[in-house]
Amino acid sequence: MLVASSHLDLPMRFARLSLSLAVALALSAPLALHAQPVAPDSATPARNGASPAAVNQADALREAALRDDTAWQVLESLTTEVGPRVAGSAADARAVAWMVAKFKTLGFDKVWTEPVTFPKWVRRGESAEVMGAHAQPLHVTALGGSAGGSVTGEIVRFATLADLEAAPAGSLTGKIAFLDYRMARMKDGSGYGPGSRGRSRGPSAAIRAGASAYLMRSVGTDDHRNPHTGMTRYDEGLVPVPAAAVSNPDADQLARLLQRGPVAVKLSLDCGWDGEYTSQNVIAEVRGHGKPDEVVTIGGHLDSWDLGTGAIDDGAGIAITTAAALLIKRQPMRPLRTVRVVAFANEEQGLHGGRAYAEAHKADVARQQIMAESDFGAGRIYAITFSEGGRSSDAAHQIEAALAPLGIKTDTEGGPGPDVIASAANGVAWAELQQDGTDYFDLHHTPDDTLDKVDPAALRQNVAAYAVFAWLAANANGTFGSAPKAAAPR
Ligand code: ZN
Ligand code: ZN
Repeated sequence: MLVASSHLDLPMRFARLSLSLAVALALSAPLALHAQPVAPDSATPARNGASPAAVNQADALREAALRDDTAWQVLESLTTEVGPRVAGSAADARAVAWMVAKFKTLGFDKVWTEPVTFPKWVRRGESAEVMGAHAQPLHVTALGGSAGGSVTGEIVRFATLADLEAAPAGSLTGKIAFLDYRMARMKDGSGYGPGSRGRSRGPSAAIRAGASAYLMRSVGTDDHRNPHTGMTRYDEGLVPVPAAAVSNPDADQLARLLQRGPVAVKLSLDCGWDGEYTSQNVIAEVRGHGKPDEVVTIGGHLDSWDLGTGAIDDGAGIAITTAAALLIKRQPMRPLRTVRVVAFANEEQGLHGGRAYAEAHKADVARQQIMAESDFGAGRIYAITFSEGGRSSDAAHQIEAALAPLGIKTDTEGGPGPDVIASAANGVAWAELQQDGTDYFDLHHTPDDTLDKVDPAALRQNVAAYAVFAWLAANANGTFGSAPKAAAPR
């Protein structure tokens, strides 16, 4: 996940936590009755839901998924054979070829690619060190999109982004701004919004105050000596300066050194923009038997950052959704609608794959039944949310009932996954299958994002949830409210 999108803003997500708890408590009794299928009865006919046979099949699908290791095999293959796959790199092309071959080998009915063009950013080298009497190296990484350059200057510490944004113009001339803000560990990832705002807005604030470089405490919850990368940007009209993150222990070290007196740091980044690149969204389908032109879309993003091997971000999302669709294909019943898996290109550097997909499928909004992206690691799913138009549908209630045995509750607040945002703005209905992200930001965008961090049992639970969700959504008689609308400003 890249964006500090508005749905991750702190106050709303805090509100949501207590709300979801209330909802969970209120619903715990009815959910316990889930085993009674939501089949039609005289009191509450499931007019818009799936047939009783499809509901029974969902239970079989869920149990089959909990015994299936396809997702693990896909994830092991991607992280081992391709490894890190930064958008625009040689490994990006290898990842696309790997995904096409994998979809074909697994036996999907149709596999194709759609082009995604974006500016290419390249990291070549990076280092930093404390100068002077306490000279020592620091563990840093350039923020994605950073300008290159080598700068030496005294660091000036700010505890919050608001403090840095309040620094008067000229007050940091010749200095390096140091944002020392630590994000909070939260199950729903709500600490990431305030943390990543320092990454997206900090460099511009530093430049406005006259700084010649920007250094920030990593947006992460771990205490390993790993800096966390991730995208930054510069406001129009500003001359970019080098921007980097230090690991949490290095930020602690800088704070201690500052208690002893002024601290000069040399920051050297060899990175920058280098023309354009065209990658591909890779798409596979399990064809529906009754309404093949109507589509349930699930997926993840194929690109990763370069420091780890992109296991939790977002190899897991690719693996989970691929395995879920494949399980649907292997059932004796075919889905009514088509189930589509999209491996989105370049999510990390600006949601480029999701935007290109929304644009390419703009004319099909009404035929896109619902869309969901898995992009929050490999932790267990604990809640599901639907976009407003579908929230009270029979189909949504059937899905909620079929997910309850997996420990998944109904939530009423949330937002579309990063690569779903642009399609949702066009009017496509969405669901969010919310994963436990307690440990996600220990690993996110670091060298520690590797396969060994993934729990195979949790991965299977994710597959079961996505399989049940996609199956019942594809078989519903009604819709979740997808309807074309003018795209919101991006
Ligand atoms: Zn990411
Ligand atoms: Zn991601």
